[in-house]
Amino acid sequence: MENLVPTSLIQALERQRYHFVGRHSAVKRCRWLYETLIHGRPCYKQKFYGIKTHQCIQMTPALFYCTQRCLFCWRAQSGDLRITWDEMKLPMWDNPETIVEGSIKAQLRILSGYKGNTETNQQKFKEALTPRHVAISLTGEPTLYQHVGELVQAFHERGFTTFLVSNGTAPSVLAKLNEEPTQLYISVCAPDEETYNHVCQPQIPKAWEKLKETLELLPSFKCPTVIRITSVRGLNMENIEGYAKLIERANPTYIEPKAYMHVGFSRLRLGYESMPDYQEIREFAGQIAKETSYNVIDESRESRVVLLSRLGKPIRFGAD
Ligand code: SF4
Ligand code: SF4
Repeated sequence: MENLVPTSLIQALERQRYHFVGRHSAVKRCRWLYETLIHGRPCYKQKFYGIKTHQCIQMTPALFYCTQRCLFCWRAQSGDLRITWDEMKLPMWDNPETIVEGSIKAQLRILSGYKGNTETNQQKFKEALTPRHVAISLTGEPTLYQHVGELVQAFHERGFTTFLVSNGTAPSVLAKLNEEPTQLYISVCAPDEETYNHVCQPQIPKAWEKLKETLELLPSFKCPTVIRITSVRGLNMENIEGYAKLIERANPTYIEPKAYMHVGFSRLRLGYESMPDYQEIREFAGQIAKETSYNVIDESRESRVVLLSRLGKPIRFGAD
């Protein structure tokens, strides 16, 4: 890894408790793993979709690489902490098996910290030792990883469900995925090109066109699809008509407007006041519902997220 990016970046990520896997992947403990094991509070995706928080691995196969530099992103971006590297100079890629094996091992290392904790729910802890779900979403753009379809497949072969989160700037990769994820997320964090350029700061030409191409591709997916709108106060919660047009184009199974959280490296770019409160997210979601044929079907106050769909209730994957 030291050959790919400055050592100071690796040290900064280690301090933030990233567990490196191979040359360009990482696992990080999701705060909800702690919440569910210690306080019995699962994440909103368990509430909505039935996947088990304590059996979820949060990982990325593209730790240092992205086609955007979103203002709200929690990942380290070149220039943060005065550390610079080329975010689009892609490495020799590790094979999917190495990444899957390494991710499971890293998750078990993370879990070992809960073993002696008297507050840990022992039943959940036992189950957690067999992870069953992966959120391919931690940081970076996973479609830059050349074998992302094979990675999804390799997780599926081990009985995992997979949620793949992309910024939609690589429609050709998504069109050619040899295996669909269990659920596909596309981040749409701007209602128009001007806002997109300001908030998401694309690093490649014609990124907005590519995102729109991806949205046109979404109806061809068999798996449930989600438009994720990371919502930042004062930045991208306007022009509801613009969002509605993009949503119509994509016809997703769900829309998830979710509040920006003031965490990680985003604190270098945005202030605490950029975080919308729950009421603002509800109102924003309500405006989207009014402008589209989607309805609010669920919500999570503590995660400041609302779920919209044309379905009466979400499709659930885990046993209840
Ligand atoms: S689904 Fe997301 S929020 Fe829930 S445990 Fe996994 S990484 Fe965390
Ligand atoms: S697309 Fe995702 S990983 Fe890339 S800068 Fe934006 S939020 Fe961060």
